[in-house]
Amino acid sequence: MLYQSTRGNSQPVSAAGAIKLGIAPDGGLFVPDRPVYVTAGELALMAGMTYQERAASILQLFLTDFTSGEIRECVQGAYDREKFDVPEIAPLQKLDEHLYVLELWHGPTCAFKDMALQILPRLLPRAVKKTGEDREIAILVATSGDTGKAALEGFRDVPGTHIIVFFPARGVSEVQRLQMITQEGRNVHVVAVEGNFDQTQSGVKAIFTDSAVNAAVDRRGYRFSSANSINWGRLVPQIVYYFSAYADLLAKGEIASGETVNFVVPTGNFGNILAAFYARQMGLPVKRLICAANRNNVLTDFIRTGTYDRTREFYRTISPSMDILISSNLERLLYEVTGGDAARVREWMGALQTAGRYQVDGETLEKIQAVFWSDFAGDPATMETIRNTYRQYGYLMDTHTAVGKYVYDRYVEATRDTSKTVIASTASPFKFNQSVATAILGEEAVRGKGEFELLETLSRATGLPIPKGLKDLDKKPVRHTLTVAPEEMKRVVQELLTGRN
Ligand SMILES: *Cc1c(COP(=O)(O)O)cnc(C)c1O
Repeated sequence: MLYQSTRGNSQPVSAAGAIKLGIAPDGGLFVPDRPVYVTAGELALMAGMTYQERAASILQLFLTDFTSGEIRECVQGAYDREKFDVPEIAPLQKLDEHLYVLELWHGPTCAFKDMALQILPRLLPRAVKKTGEDREIAILVATSGDTGKAALEGFRDVPGTHIIVFFPARGVSEVQRLQMITQEGRNVHVVAVEGNFDQTQSGVKAIFTDSAVNAAVDRRGYRFSSANSINWGRLVPQIVYYFSAYADLLAKGEIASGETVNFVVPTGNFGNILAAFYARQMGLPVKRLICAANRNNVLTDFIRTGTYDRTREFYRTISPSMDILISSNLERLLYEVTGGDAARVREWMGALQTAGRYQVDGETLEKIQAVFWSDFAGDPATMETIRNTYRQYGYLMDTHTAVGKYVYDRYVEATRDTSKTVIASTASPFKFNQSVATAILGEEAVRGKGEFELLETLSRATGLPIPKGLKDLDKKPVRHTLTVAPEEMKRVVQELLTGRN
């Protein structure tokens, strides 16, 4: 299988090539050049498999230039009991007869980004070797909070790689910030950007496609790559857990073979829900994909109207990992639903770049609406959902997952669809403890307490253990203090890389 650019102006490459490059040279994103399918029989077999075995079987379908031995090694190293605090890796919790929660945050950084970022750093060095590359890889990351730490943890001290993470200085939670600026490792850099996530992400994308910067780092023996969800190597591992959730439902007798289910996905950059879309294309019996947004509801508007318009106010919310107005991976969806019409994708992405908006045609919109449904939750509704879900089910959700639950309730109200539904839970409630503790304990109990005191408060009140990755963060030394303006990102990348040589 080869991978081609959504913009049609780059040479197709192997899976290893796509993972190494991260983004296509023409600014597009790599997509598989042919569909792959999983049969009902194969799905039934998956019900009896471990998470690691499920992962290997899905990855093999896409990473056709990796041997099964290599894939097994990567999978075993990534989804290991030392890294994940439960043997199921991505356990499924039942809330009631219709509703399940897929917990994707049992990895080292307590958010779903670990599901892909524990394995990408194992795939990438092998990909580099396969393509005959002799330069070191410089990974640039823009993060809305969770990707940064997960990528740092995954890539720390991986030979042949360097990683530079940019995060919006005031756009991440205190826990997220401390997780990043205390990062250890010989090959890691963390830089705060005085701007929001969109500016940070645009800054990184501009560096990838700047030929002068690329030439300069090339002379120093580096090649850029990406650990953001624009990298295909991030998306494939995310497809796995949708199959895994379905296989668990089958294994537990919750659904019959072939029965369709819905997935609700709290969405920002559209990477997680796009993986669910690919799972559906592969034959996973999925009815609707419910795209849950926060007050930055650019995707809800798009799915309802076909107009994507990022020229709107940007809000900082209590679900900061979804505070995004430019959802990169939507480009892949547009490519897929237009049957690979790169010319139209180029036109829309061009309009997004120059005018900040584009409108898809009626046929494309219909195809999107046949699969996707969307609504959004503001902060007060999110808080209320955390409280109500805890009261009703004794189940504690983080702010992002609660956005999903709220939108699911709206979906059921609007459609009366009683299909079994799985909410992708994207972060541990302890990671966003300030909001979560306020929601279930009230303002009084939280007032005057720092985030680290609140971890204890929350643990005592709920009986849930504090995740290992969040403990004692406030006692670790700060190792990264650099703050730059968005227009300084290019210069800083060159300085950091050349200073290291
Ligand atoms: C990254 C993230 C999201 C958004 O996922 P996308 O793939 O960017 O749509 C949602 N919730 C949490 C906790 C995240 O870290």
